[in-house]
Amino acid sequence: MESVGIGLLEETAAGITHASGMSTDVSRFRALSDVDLQTLLARHAELGRIHQIRGNLLAAEVARRSAPELGSAGLAQKLGHRTPLDMLKKTTGVSGFTAKTAIDTGQTLTEAAGIPDPITGVVEPPREPWLHPVAVAIAAGRLSGEQLGVIRKGLRGPSAQVTIDMLLACAEQLVAEAADLTIDQLGRRAISLRNEIDTAGIAEREARMRSMRGLRWIPADAEGMATLIWKMDPETAAPMKELYDRLTSPKRGGPRFVDADRQAQADAIADDDRTPEQLASDGFLHLLEAGADADDQHLLGSGGPIVKYTVVKDEFDNGTGIGRIEGAEATPVSQETLERLVCGGATEEIIFDKDLNPIDVGKLMRLYSKKQKTALAARDGGCMWPGCDRPPSWTEAHHIDHHHKGGKTTIENGILLCRFHHLLLHNNLWSITRDLFGWWLIPPVDVDPNQVPRPMPTKSLAWKDLERHRDQLQENSAHDAEAERAEGATRTEEARLTEQAARTEKTRRTDQAAQTEDARQEELAELAMIAILASLERMPAQLTG
Ligand SMILES: [Zn+2]
Ligand SMILES: [Zn+2]
Repeated sequence: MESVGIGLLEETAAGITHASGMSTDVSRFRALSDVDLQTLLARHAELGRIHQIRGNLLAAEVARRSAPELGSAGLAQKLGHRTPLDMLKKTTGVSGFTAKTAIDTGQTLTEAAGIPDPITGVVEPPREPWLHPVAVAIAAGRLSGEQLGVIRKGLRGPSAQVTIDMLLACAEQLVAEAADLTIDQLGRRAISLRNEIDTAGIAEREARMRSMRGLRWIPADAEGMATLIWKMDPETAAPMKELYDRLTSPKRGGPRFVDADRQAQADAIADDDRTPEQLASDGFLHLLEAGADADDQHLLGSGGPIVKYTVVKDEFDNGTGIGRIEGAEATPVSQETLERLVCGGATEEIIFDKDLNPIDVGKLMRLYSKKQKTALAARDGGCMWPGCDRPPSWTEAHHIDHHHKGGKTTIENGILLCRFHHLLLHNNLWSITRDLFGWWLIPPVDVDPNQVPRPMPTKSLAWKDLERHRDQLQENSAHDAEAERAEGATRTEEARLTEQAARTEKTRRTDQAAQTEDARQEELAELAMIAILASLERMPAQLTG
């Protein structure tokens, strides 16, 4: 043991002597040819990695000797440090992130080497055997610990659908590709390979990312500058990125437009003296102010689509679709989310021939017209979820019978839900039914094993006024009908003078009375519909007063 230690110490001392003899003369670096500079950069990184491997192995050894189960007998605590991480930070002057990466990398290398434990003599099997090819590449000086970090994070571990062998194949591929990728690209590539083998995990991953979303306000500093930090899941980021690009891209050398108006607008932005960051700041404030000023009763989002999602139609129709966000395709979108987007948005079919050449774009199916949404806003008065008070402008029109399962885009089949409740309904498998008494929300089995329907009363006071008005009309109409029937009976009495004529007349009168009743009902139905639209004008006062 002693000789091993002395050997390593001597080697390191020799390394230091050698390294300190290496030139740091700036003028010599200036004099390098381009080719030599390139070569030297690559060789120097190699040298750095050799040193890094030793640093990583040392860090892992510190961690092993400071294992939590050793308590105060552990190395770090014996030397007065709380944790091995603290010990590394203080003795080597690196950040916590760097120290953690060194420990993790060293542990992976140690496990891959399969060295028996000095006390028990047991060779512990590696905890993440699929990272073996990465460990080999690190040991050979071809990959860094940071690269291992993003690969580990991207690939994660095995699951019901993902085997160790599948992960191993991904790791091999990443090692082969790593030389041509930046660390960020490598991380994204690892995530995308994992997604490819783990389609079942898409919804779960999506939910995890969604739960991490957040907008954090950091109060003004001493000078008065406030900061906003917005962590966005892909679905939030996609439209924000599109808006950001629209506000700033002409400044950053964006596309030339064929449309003269759009080009003029782009030129005006390019000529603006503001920086892209200033333009974005002013633009977003403007958008938010415009949104805050909008009438609560007016449904927003009637403009063209700003973010496109794509999915294979047959897979979507049978419930196994994997969606892609245009411009951010590496992050797949779950079937549940696609169903919700289709439910509230517009879809277009892109037709390919058998050689997969796009040949046509089918007609745009815009779901729920502006007029239909106006009617829904008048009827529902906002999100219909029990207890929710979001006004119509915050809602999306949901198809009660799902659109892709043949549900029609009719007012009858529509209901307004805010984004949050729309999301909850699709992702957690709630459903809605309608009967003579109104709308009912049916919880999923995991929320209520008996699935007792919950009433969904309208939030629209105007609609309730209309309902009262209709009931009044119906009551009046019933009185009229009764009076008419009584009169008809009298006339039949007179007609009994001739038996045959009486029978004919009676039949005729009965039919006529039924027809009059039908016509009256029809007239009522039509009246109700017209009144709903007409009553819109008095709605804002009704609802906000
Ligand atoms: Zn929906
Ligand atoms: Zn709601």
